[in-house]
Amino acid sequence: MAKGKSSEYKKMIDTQYRDLMKHCQVHMEKIEKDLPEPREDFLAVLKERGVSRRDFIKWTSAMTAALMLPPMFRPMVAKAAENFSRLPIIWLHFAECTGCSEAFLRSSYPNVDNILLETISLEYHETLMAASGYQAEQNLEKAVKDFSGKFICVIEGGIPRGLHGKYLTLGPKGKTGIEVAKEVAKKAAAVLCIGTCSSFGGVQAASPNPTDAVSVKKAIGVSTVNIAGCPPNAVNFTGTLLHYLMFGALPALDNLGRPIWAYGKRIHDYCERRPHFDASEFVEEWGDQGALKGWCLYKMGCKGPYTYANCGKVRFNDGISWPIMAGHGCIGCTEADFWDTMAPYEKPLPDKIYGGGEKTVDNIGIALTGVAVAGVAAHAVASGIRHKGE
Ligand code: SF4
Repeated sequence: MAKGKSSEYKKMIDTQYRDLMKHCQVHMEKIEKDLPEPREDFLAVLKERGVSRRDFIKWTSAMTAALMLPPMFRPMVAKAAENFSRLPIIWLHFAECTGCSEAFLRSSYPNVDNILLETISLEYHETLMAASGYQAEQNLEKAVKDFSGKFICVIEGGIPRGLHGKYLTLGPKGKTGIEVAKEVAKKAAAVLCIGTCSSFGGVQAASPNPTDAVSVKKAIGVSTVNIAGCPPNAVNFTGTLLHYLMFGALPALDNLGRPIWAYGKRIHDYCERRPHFDASEFVEEWGDQGALKGWCLYKMGCKGPYTYANCGKVRFNDGISWPIMAGHGCIGCTEADFWDTMAPYEKPLPDKIYGGGEKTVDNIGIALTGVAVAGVAAHAVASGIRHKGE
């Protein structure tokens, strides 16, 4: 870009960011007036749990970068975190294993994301609340009424449609999952699907799917933000809520309803084993020399080239590790229908599914055109799955 044009471009970007910052400040002031007082003094809770001010500042920098915002937004991310417990959440459970809640709330590492989740204003959460039966149902009705239009409805689990929805009934009145989801979602400010089951149907929607389980979007016809993963990363959930608190809007989504800031790139693009893929150095058998040396797991069925998520970037348990780092390939858990199309194959996908999986590796094996072939072929495979989603 010519020098004049590049400074014009920089000016334009600066102006856009300044406008966005103004919008953010106005919205945060509005939230402070509109939403209930914070339930917890977040900074005091951090201190009590042994998270220093320095760690919190480091976290705000990492979260600002993860949300694809420039460093000038760090104070706003910190302020949104302090206001996190103002946002009322109603968390519904349908057909699932509760692993998403477990993964979020039982971490042994109290990092900032986990503490945010502990201080969240959960007005209703069937696994965590003490109430049951009629009392639980009253709590739900009261929360929906008190926070109508202001709460976020978080849904964990797919929704069975079989037998007019009667494969899943809840509460003393025996309402179906479809009825409960419709009643609550229509009063919510937004619906967030947590995990692959509510996002795409998940394991209960896998073939032969006897209960006709489907995603929330398919079951009740509402737009959802899909925080996919089995389980999803807590960072992607807290980041999406922080974005909502900062801007009063949900982040930009991809064609599967996933926030682009978290699901915009392939696992393969962030993978620390990628240089071995490019150099045709593959694990051929569990426990072989390649496995000991940390080579690429593609031939052992890694689905990283077909899967969009930031696992390798944000990792799990306070950034300590993630499946590929621990030695197992990606199973594609953030993609729709992965239980049928990706997880069962402990080898590269057959040609008939995504077109060219085996051939891709053969080409790479030849290695003469090595890196270029790898890049182009893997991109073609990834594009295949994108088009399938569309
Ligand atoms: S195929 Fe899997 S292990 Fe290999 S570089 Fe890609 S994501 Fe990493």
